[in-house]
Amino acid sequence: MADLLEFHLADEAATARLAQRLAPHLQAGDVLALHGGLGAGKTTFARALISALRGVTTEVPSPTYTLVQTYEAGPLTIYHFDLYRLEDPDEVRELGWDETASGLALIEWPLKAGDHLPVWRLDLTLEQTADGRTARLEPQGEDWQARLHGI
Ligand code: ADP
Ligand code: MG
Repeated sequence: MADLLEFHLADEAATARLAQRLAPHLQAGDVLALHGGLGAGKTTFARALISALRGVTTEVPSPTYTLVQTYEAGPLTIYHFDLYRLEDPDEVRELGWDETASGLALIEWPLKAGDHLPVWRLDLTLEQTADGRTARLEPQGEDWQARLHGI
């Protein structure tokens, strides 16, 4: 498997389908960094992923103001961050950042976390194109190669 997987997402439903495909490959302790500018589809992706993991359509408001929203998916706790409004990376500590290690972290605007962003993570970059979006999945770390097999 290549280090980088690229997908063309023609519409919002395609973004949701990619999230549904990724969901079974994720587990507690994982960090999914959602890169991309405003309107790239990060929240759309997170919404579909959270619903897929919970097995039920779930209302997932953008955490723009709350900065983090948590969800339970059976034994798994999902932490959905939007760090856009963060002024200092150290502010993540006030958001319960360290507790997220036992759950699954979905992070919009991940680079705002600076050095707090774990090195071992899955990077997903969404980009607007003339005909939808492109998604680039870049595993950072050895284990992911096997974990993402067949996606
Ligand atoms: P972000 O969280 O990155 O700011 P959002 O998830 O709020 O972005 O999405 C912005 C818009 O992009 C939404 O209106 C959504 O319907 C749309 N969108 C998501 N995926 C696609 C796609 N593959 N093609 C076209 N529009 C999309
Ligand atoms: Mg968003």
